[in-house]
Amino acid sequence: FPVVNVLGVSFINTTNAKFIHQLTQDIDERKNTFVVTANPEIVMYADSHPDYAATIKDADYVTPDGIGIIKGTQMLNQPLQERITGYDTFLSLLKWGNDQHKSAYFLGAKPKVILDLKKVLTKTYPNLVIAGIHDGYFDNEAPIINDIKESQPDLVFVALGFPKQENLIAKYRHVNNGLWIGIGGSFDVLSG
Ligand code: UDP
Repeated sequence: FPVVNVLGVSFINTTNAKFIHQLTQDIDERKNTFVVTANPEIVMYADSHPDYAATIKDADYVTPDGIGIIKGTQMLNQPLQERITGYDTFLSLLKWGNDQHKSAYFLGAKPKVILDLKKVLTKTYPNLVIAGIHDGYFDNEAPIINDIKESQPDLVFVALGFPKQENLIAKYRHVNNGLWIGIGGSFDVLSG
């Protein structure tokens, strides 16, 4: 996709539909893919944290998650076409994953939230294979990463909030050739 630069962050300029289509192709080809859904807070944080800026540069796709990003690009006379949020992308991938019997790993949120999420997923997306779940409050990530490495899911959803989720993905994405995406508070929202 063409990109538009905002304070050093390169946002893809496309629609939700075209983006999801591209992601599903990447997943079918078992490409190692890292998606960042960035809001203005993330852009500002990256602007003052070079390590985090480098992590984001490592992503294959950075999407504009927030109307502030769209407005900013309009002011720069390089308007992005559409807001592409983490939550909408999460829901689109779950629906597609269910249709295609894909597998997914869910990492993040509080222990109760992730258990409630599992119930919702089983009910709403019965054909989606749950490769594993783990809450986002752990001292040692090694067993979790090992789980992902062994189960080789098509999708890895990481909901630890920024910058934790992107830092973890950048560090461990090589263990699984699937799609890795950081989606902030999405587990809390979907679990009800
Ligand atoms: N979270 C987590 N582990 C942590 C810190 C946060 O799993 O060490 C979870 C938290 O329970 C919530 C999500 O990460 O589900 C953060 O959501 P938020 O909307 O704050 O995301 P942000 O806007 O910071 O990306």
